[in-house]
Amino acid sequence: MQQSVMKAWWDSSHMAGGNAAYVEELYEAYLDDPNSVEDTWRDIFDKLPKLDGVALEANHSQIRDEFRKMAALGPAARVPAAAASGSGAVSDDKQVKVLQLINAYRFRGHQHANLDPLGLWKQARVRDLELSHHTLSERDFDTVYNVGSYAIGQDSMSLGELYKSLNRTYCGSIGAEYMHITDTEQKRWLQQRIESVQAKPEISRDEKVSILKGLIAADGMEKYLGAKFPGAKRFSLEGGDSLIPMLKGLITHAGTHGTKEVVIGMAHRGRLNVLVNVLGKNPSVLFDEFSGKHDESLGAGDVKYHAGYSSDFATPGGNVHLALAFNPSHLEIVNPVVMGSVRARLDRRGCEDGSTVLPITIHGDSAIAGQGVVQETFNMSQARGFKVGGTVRIVINNQVGFTTSKIEDTRSTQYCTDIAKMVQAPIFHVNADDPEAVLFVTKLAMDYRNKFKRDVVIDLVCYRRHGHNEADEPNATQPLMYQKIKKHPVPRQIYADQLTAEGSIDDHEVEKLISDYRAALDHGACVVDEWRPMTEHSVDWSPYLGHDWTAPYDGALSVDKLKELARAMCRVPDGYPLQSRVKKLYADREVMAAGDKNLDWGMAENLAYASLVDTGVNIRMTGQDSGRGTFFHRHAVLHNQKTGEAYMPLQHIKDDQGKMEIYDSVLSEEAVMAFEFGYATAEPRTLTIWEAQFGDFANGAQVVIDQFLSSGEAKWGRLCGLTLLLPHGYEGQGPEHSSARLERFLQLCADHNWQVCVPSTPAQVFHMLRRQAIRPMRRPLIVMSPKSLLRHPLATSTLEELSEGVFHNVIDEIDDIDAAKVKRVVMCSGKVYYDLLDQRRKDERDDVAIIRIEQLYPFPHDEMAAIVQSKYKHVKDWVWCQEEPQNQGAWYCSQHHFWASIPEGGKLTYAGRAAAASPAVGYISVHNQQQKALVDDALTL
Ligand code: AMP
Repeated sequence: MQQSVMKAWWDSSHMAGGNAAYVEELYEAYLDDPNSVEDTWRDIFDKLPKLDGVALEANHSQIRDEFRKMAALGPAARVPAAAASGSGAVSDDKQVKVLQLINAYRFRGHQHANLDPLGLWKQARVRDLELSHHTLSERDFDTVYNVGSYAIGQDSMSLGELYKSLNRTYCGSIGAEYMHITDTEQKRWLQQRIESVQAKPEISRDEKVSILKGLIAADGMEKYLGAKFPGAKRFSLEGGDSLIPMLKGLITHAGTHGTKEVVIGMAHRGRLNVLVNVLGKNPSVLFDEFSGKHDESLGAGDVKYHAGYSSDFATPGGNVHLALAFNPSHLEIVNPVVMGSVRARLDRRGCEDGSTVLPITIHGDSAIAGQGVVQETFNMSQARGFKVGGTVRIVINNQVGFTTSKIEDTRSTQYCTDIAKMVQAPIFHVNADDPEAVLFVTKLAMDYRNKFKRDVVIDLVCYRRHGHNEADEPNATQPLMYQKIKKHPVPRQIYADQLTAEGSIDDHEVEKLISDYRAALDHGACVVDEWRPMTEHSVDWSPYLGHDWTAPYDGALSVDKLKELARAMCRVPDGYPLQSRVKKLYADREVMAAGDKNLDWGMAENLAYASLVDTGVNIRMTGQDSGRGTFFHRHAVLHNQKTGEAYMPLQHIKDDQGKMEIYDSVLSEEAVMAFEFGYATAEPRTLTIWEAQFGDFANGAQVVIDQFLSSGEAKWGRLCGLTLLLPHGYEGQGPEHSSARLERFLQLCADHNWQVCVPSTPAQVFHMLRRQAIRPMRRPLIVMSPKSLLRHPLATSTLEELSEGVFHNVIDEIDDIDAAKVKRVVMCSGKVYYDLLDQRRKDERDDVAIIRIEQLYPFPHDEMAAIVQSKYKHVKDWVWCQEEPQNQGAWYCSQHHFWASIPEGGKLTYAGRAAAASPAVGYISVHNQQQKALVDDALTL
């Protein structure tokens, strides 16, 4: 439609020819995105009547009239004012073309930038960057043109000067991609910063020497390790040496501008180098690790290139605390962990805009393009519950992933960083052999992040001097690249030659810097001048160290206090319009609060939170639909039916209460769970909870469960009190929504690494959550949480049961059954208990007792023994009953605990579904048959 309007106007106007096509093109671009055209053109187009698509003819004629008016006013109204002076005559047409040329460089200059140190990248011809494409030529070089918004500091330039300047700015060692950003302020800001210095600011001699020292350190460290431990895996940084002066420059710049803490996440490549040359890890400790020595206190330990580290770093703005996050081999998964850790630190500082804590994540080129968690992380970057004021993301782009380097094998886009465009992050590709350019984009990136609080990406284009590790032979797979690398001088050499050639330093000084660095390594001394011992100890972990799951939990609260809290958590502002079902639910809660009705699950769970924030504990819960609850049961977040605004009664328990946060999360499991792991490992004083929409979805975060939650403490000595709420239960909803895959969690149990609980009553969930927050032990809590049980008439509790103050790891028979008459004891966990109880009551049986095991791991042997010895010593017939198929659930993984619990001479049998490939059947009738059969099986002697 718009096109036809333009065409109609051109056909009827006297403005025709080259201009017509171009302005038409511009107008089209403007209609797509007003920010994509020059300010001058935007102003013109803005003044045109808007099309509304209904009164088409009227709009046609209006638009034509407007253009006619512009044409009548002459060229000045149609095109940006041409420069009056200059040796050549300025035509409107050429002036337009010049502006078009500037735009082309801003959009596509990066495609002709000199980014690859090896010169292997094949650059496609970009016609937009050619003068001829714009019907310009060198013959126009002397003509002076208006340069529009080109931020060079002058309004006009000769085309020759401009052409040189554009090439220097956009096609040198930096390829800046930012024209995909729709926000004009950001775009203008970036243009100003880049164009005003033609992407190459003057830098001081001191800064140059400091860059050189960084390169000497990067190179020296690898050479030293290579000589001392030949063939040992170190995942050398060589080729990407600029990373060291880059990181140091980044931290210094950040510290100078108010950053107090930096959290870094990175994979193995270059990690040892960063540990020693940036974080100031003592090289002698690293050498000991190479020699096989290790710190016995660190449990199972991990390889040295996964190790984290903490230190302080002196900057002109004060010391900055540095934390390098521990990392598994799974690439990119550390990114959301870092963000979670940063969010916790920001919360601790009460800093909402992210200005005091900086996340830096370092990526590989293949991984950033290949791993899905990158997309999830970018998607979280501006979401309310997860934003951290932007992350500086650096890609060590060594152009090869292990042995795979061909672009057509590794990705589907020209750049590995294209994923960042999904959040409109600016992307700076930079040739790592030009460390001054690297430093320029690093500061620019940092300033952008601080100003706009958004992610920014630096693509450090480099190479990898050796194979994937030092024992690899890269020539087997990348022969041409490695022939080139062999002849390519190291970055230190290139930069030292540059500085000596320009007279900034002499050979002698260079030699001295090299030998000083080597001598420091020989002495095993810290090689980072800025290193400072840690003083910014923002949280003291010592109260949480050395506790096991048997650590006492004193959760007693009087009934009166519970009533007071319950009333507070039901309070909504006067006249707050609630949705009718929610209103009824809250009215019901008020009855429960008065003690006139037993408490249901949602009430008890919310009361646990109210009781914790009341004592100053902070709570953070995220998950898909957590505010309301997947099953319409939580309603911790209310929605005003008139305004849509949210209100959280739990945030209004009392004035000086703990912080209560519940966020409906982005629809991700992997990144969100990883984020919450990062949060919980950085903040032991917050009860951190991640909830799955349905428990089985947690396997979308299997990497987090395997690599961090189950094993993080064993590998790295890092405590984590994260709670996972995973709805689980066989209710005929088919294979996907029945099982939270309990067996997976049980299979990973060892060393008391976490707790796996299946609470069956509201009082139990109340105490379980309070215990997790109050007890000083900080270990993950995996909860098989209920679905239909949320409304089960038998699954209720009294205020007295909440007041009593303990989580029962085992619950003995509750009916009045004479233990002496019991011939069989059925053990079970979770919802099936109520099916068994119901059936046994219907059958009026008194020879079967039912025991609930509410904590499957660590298995409560003592409590079980106490019950068995006092009541069921005589029973020989023991059954484990479960809803899950035999190969799933607790049967295989916990069977040894069940056997250990029963009296000597007793036999243990299984009642449950037959082994199955699928977690549950899809047909409700088959489900019901199976459920009846397993209950009958458990109860029939
Ligand atoms: P960070 O702020 O992460 O650099 O941590 C500072 C120090 O606190 C570390 O060196 C550890 O001694 C301790 N620490 C941090 N996180 C944990 C954790 N999750 N578990 C135990 N100790 C921790």
